[in-house]
Amino acid sequence: MDAVSIREVAPRDGLQNEKPIPADDKVRLIDALSRTGVRRIEAVSFVHPKAIPQMADADEVWTRAWHNPDVRYSALIPNTRGAQRALAAGFREIEVVVSASDTHNRRNLNRSTDESLDDIAALIPLVHEAGATLEVIIATSFGCPFEGDIDPARVASMVERVRSDGADRTAFGDTTGMATPRRVKDLLSQVRPELLHFHNTRGTGLANVLTALEFGVREFDASAGGIGGCPYAPGASGNIATEELVHMLEDLGIATGIDLEALIGVAEMAEKMLGRTLPSGVLRAGPRTRLV
Ligand code: ZN
Repeated sequence: MDAVSIREVAPRDGLQNEKPIPADDKVRLIDALSRTGVRRIEAVSFVHPKAIPQMADADEVWTRAWHNPDVRYSALIPNTRGAQRALAAGFREIEVVVSASDTHNRRNLNRSTDESLDDIAALIPLVHEAGATLEVIIATSFGCPFEGDIDPARVASMVERVRSDGADRTAFGDTTGMATPRRVKDLLSQVRPELLHFHNTRGTGLANVLTALEFGVREFDASAGGIGGCPYAPGASGNIATEELVHMLEDLGIATGIDLEALIGVAEMAEKMLGRTLPSGVLRAGPRTRLV
């Protein structure tokens, strides 16, 4: 194995779980990330402003941000209306979420998992007609805060369904931080997505990545500084910190294309913007290669 592709999710997933910040700061964050060598950035989501006030200025932020031609930018959408906005804004990589847990899906999207899968099936032709691709992120793949364990066979059947409906890519999400190496092994030995989205809520984020690498997954989400949180545990850590992931992978001889010092600079900037200490060891201590 010689390379891993990291999608930087701080501007969307990260900021969506933080206190709102001004559009100026969001633009600065996207622009700074676009200069780190990262090749994929989840930039915004097109959701109803009442549901997610942090993303109310998505159109403005996206219009003002630098669109580095070497970076693929993506947007998350909750429904057809969101997809239309994302496509009109020029996005060609769209993500949509559905939960493996029926209870979690009803709380999040007010419909059953099967109803959401039907919605997604109807969305795929619309996205494809615009020349864009759709990634389906299956949330609570590794466990649900309401239902507990999720049967890997259920996740596998969802992957089969969305692939047969024409989805371009699948991802497994662990927003509530319940994945462990054992759970990653149990799920990935049955079905493998293109990308994994781990959180470090309970300290197993990087261990989960190492386990997933053994199963051939080569794409991971992470956020600078570990920006973000856990929706069911206020104050808990959120996404894997990108600089911790890059630091570990590069030491294993796995290229990420990301300039670690530049990335740490972005995390420092984000920490000032948010006014709180971010949960990243590499941000605190610096890289191992930075000598005192
Ligand atoms: Zn996340």
